[in-house]
Amino acid sequence: MSAGTVIVGAGQAGAQLATSLRENGYPDGIALIGDEPHTPYHRPPLSKEYMAGGIAGTELPIRTAEYYQGQDIWLRTGAAVSSIDRGATCIVLATGERMPYEHLVLATGSRNRRLSFDDSEPANVHYLRTRDDAARLRSALTDARNVLIVGAGFIGLEFASVAVGRGARVTVVEMADRVMGRAVSTEISAHFTDRHTATGVKVLCSTSIDEFVRSDDGLVTALRIHGQLHDADLVLVGIGVIPNAELAQDAGLTVDNGIVVDSSLATTDPSIFAIGDCASHPRPESSGRVRVESVQNAADQARFLARQLCAATEELNGGYKDVPWFWSHQAGDKLQIAGLSQPGDQSLILGDPATGRFSVCRLRDDQLVAIESINSPGDHLASRKLLASGLPLDEAQLSAPGFSLRTALSAATLTAAPTSR
Ligand SMILES: Cc1cc2nc3c(=O)[nH]c(=O)nc-3n(C[C@H](O)[C@H](O)[C@H](O)COP(=O)(O)OP(=O)(O)OC[C@H]3O[C@@H](n4cnc5c(N)ncnc54)[C@H](O)[C@@H]3O)c2cc1C
Repeated sequence: MSAGTVIVGAGQAGAQLATSLRENGYPDGIALIGDEPHTPYHRPPLSKEYMAGGIAGTELPIRTAEYYQGQDIWLRTGAAVSSIDRGATCIVLATGERMPYEHLVLATGSRNRRLSFDDSEPANVHYLRTRDDAARLRSALTDARNVLIVGAGFIGLEFASVAVGRGARVTVVEMADRVMGRAVSTEISAHFTDRHTATGVKVLCSTSIDEFVRSDDGLVTALRIHGQLHDADLVLVGIGVIPNAELAQDAGLTVDNGIVVDSSLATTDPSIFAIGDCASHPRPESSGRVRVESVQNAADQARFLARQLCAATEELNGGYKDVPWFWSHQAGDKLQIAGLSQPGDQSLILGDPATGRFSVCRLRDDQLVAIESINSPGDHLASRKLLASGLPLDEAQLSAPGFSLRTALSAATLTAAPTSR
């Protein structure tokens, strides 16, 4: 009997893979092993609805424990995998147990980059990655008056929105010259700086922290910034993530900003795959490889790999190439991004930002590569489909009078439709 598929990491990608394998009729054993004590859960609400108190922890699981049981998926929580024995095709758990695999899938995600303190980490300095982090942070927020956020990325800014909504004084400190600078256009950065400022959040860009001022019991009481003291009773650090690639590295697999996989998501060992935040994959539309941190990427890579492991090879032509997309809720606005942009890409605005509903098209070498939409879900959906269609769109077409993403999509669909005789 086949040793089946062992999935390391019971997060978004791992849970989706186990589910999709069964949906595709995978007949062999599936083990889903996670080091967190919870059944796989949705992370996005941790900084949004859950943090704001809109949903309870019990609403976070992707599926119930009974679901995995019913599908004959062996879900093992609170169990860390400590090494891979490639010679014996088995994994070794921290307990010393060994588990054989036919296919091994690394879905180990990423972990927060942390600040380093000379002595122990102050108890009121928080990070947000896991359900347990979120529960601690949510409880600390109840009494917090002065919230300082280090890093103006998605998580820092989403938390800023929740904290200011709870009546806290909120300051966000960012080293770069604009918010979300690695991920969005200058236009979207400017929009959100204005929106957060309007809600009362103080946004300090091009700013670094001189000192964490601490009390005798080690708690942070203030941050010194440009020589000025800013009171703080709660600090959230959101300065990016590091892929969990050590298992792969120690097993001799190639790692370079994540576990290196080919277009079929296989590592340098053909029986070991990597998906989700931990994997660096080649992109057909860019000359390099990317590591994408999003639910879409985790789930779509899992679905792709499930089809592959179930041998539906006809679906795989060209390898994994789904259009990346992402969303964020901040300052009362919904940001949705389709495609992958880079900081040097050109921007072209569709719609009137003054209305609070608009999109920014990103172009590279005069070709549309990504679209960032504010409060425009219709545009976002059309963007995803347009990018997937491969229809080339340049600046002249995008700026033509009357251009809209939705009409462009209809035209692309008509062009692609088979002609009837
Ligand atoms: C607060 C927050 C908000 C977010 N909001 C959004 C959003 O709005 N939109 C969006 O698209 N994305 C969002 N993301 C990102 C998204 O959640 C991640 O991209 C996604 O979870 C990646 O899935 P994954 O399965 O690759 O990793 P994860 O979901 O992180 O799962 C990996 C799991 O593997 C476990 N693991 C690691 N090593 C081992 C080991 N050796 N043994 C056993 N288990 C191990 C980890 O503990 C973890 O449980 C958010 C993330 C966070 C933290």
